[in-house]
Amino acid sequence: MPVSQHVDVVVVGAGIVGLAHAYAAARRGYKVALFERTNPAVGASIRNFGQIWPVGKYGPLLQRSLKSREIWLDVSGSAGLYCLESGSLHLAYHDDEMAVLEEFCARFPESHENCQILSSTEVAEKSQAVNMDGLKGALWSRTELNVDPRQAIREIPAWLERTYGVQLCFGTLVTDIALPHVQTTAGQWQAERVFVCSGADFETLYPQEYAASGIQRCKLQMMRTVPQPDHWRLGPNLCSGLTMLRYDSFAQCESLAALRQRIESEMPFYVQHDIHVLLSQTALGELTIGDHHEYGMTFDPFDREEINHAILRYLNTFAHLPTVDIAERWHGIYALIKGKTELILHPAPGVTIVNALSGAGMTLSFGLAEELFSA
Ligand SMILES: Cc1cc2nc3c(=O)[nH]c(=O)nc-3n(C[C@H](O)[C@H](O)[C@H](O)COP(=O)(O)OP(=O)(O)OC[C@H]3O[C@@H](n4cnc5c(N)ncnc54)[C@H](O)[C@@H]3O)c2cc1C
Repeated sequence: MPVSQHVDVVVVGAGIVGLAHAYAAARRGYKVALFERTNPAVGASIRNFGQIWPVGKYGPLLQRSLKSREIWLDVSGSAGLYCLESGSLHLAYHDDEMAVLEEFCARFPESHENCQILSSTEVAEKSQAVNMDGLKGALWSRTELNVDPRQAIREIPAWLERTYGVQLCFGTLVTDIALPHVQTTAGQWQAERVFVCSGADFETLYPQEYAASGIQRCKLQMMRTVPQPDHWRLGPNLCSGLTMLRYDSFAQCESLAALRQRIESEMPFYVQHDIHVLLSQTALGELTIGDHHEYGMTFDPFDREEINHAILRYLNTFAHLPTVDIAERWHGIYALIKGKTELILHPAPGVTIVNALSGAGMTLSFGLAEELFSA
């Protein structure tokens, strides 16, 4: 007979959303059990850049991202995780890119007090990686953090267990929830509350609710180089004009229309595959490079090298690196609802689904979990 156990809170899924909710509950003194189908978790969270990216947010989401940032710094300090206060540079090589960056700074001075426009000389002082040829200037933001998702997603569960007594049930699928009963492949548990943080699995739990929500999936291709030689360090995370088209914060700028128009006419392949290029570095010196975006419910399982080539070509326009010798290629899949920043559902009393944080789960999950537990 399976053992029946009782806890206050069950969390389903040990990606970043589940970890953030387990942390928020455990820190408040609740008895928590964390269930994860695989061992370790290998969903979107371990496959991402590990960038905490407040500069991409505005309004309440900026506040949420700054709260997350604060928690990442606390958790990393306590758990002994790599967490670099790297900041970021958005690099401008065209007048229309510079116009967006200048409007962004002028338009949101109070919400983006951590940002400033740098001249090309000032950029050179911040980063040895930037291609100075034709550089007009950059937006420097000091808020971005760089964590190593492979370390963080593997080690935060053990830290939660050590620090707060969270019960880890890895390699265990949650198959049904009818509170107070939670049915799993390792027997039945009992709980007062359940947070379902199941990422891109919309079929196992509450499939009807997911189907009605408009949720879908997004596939992204990624690469990682070998460690850079001679302890070379990247410094701030880097990106350029394509990234200005992606993030909510720039969407408010009127000057974005001209940039979008030029990119649509000059770079149709990038627009078609929704490519923008971010660059960050791990503790071991490897560079993480990506990505494109493909939307749907089921994807071709095979990655496309022409997309990786396009990513590397664009990278080469703004970064000069000691080596771009690629050691690893992979893709990740996250959940999203177009036009929404997250999905929160209450399919039954005591049950909360938290999902569809789109491309910002690392940036927003800790802050969102705090909000849900404080409400
Ligand atoms: C390539 C890539 C790059 C990205 N870069 C960034 C970035 O730099 N910064 C940023 O903020 N965001 C980034 N994101 C987005 C971020 O990774 C996602 O928003 C986030 O990982 C989603 O977390 P999650 O916990 O919802 O999903 P997941 O990490 O996929 O976790 C869900 C977990 O639930 C488990 N599960 C599902 N159903 C059950 C069940 N019934 N029982 C037990 N376990 C179950 C799954 O096994 C899985 O481990 C990126 C995403 C990708 C793919």
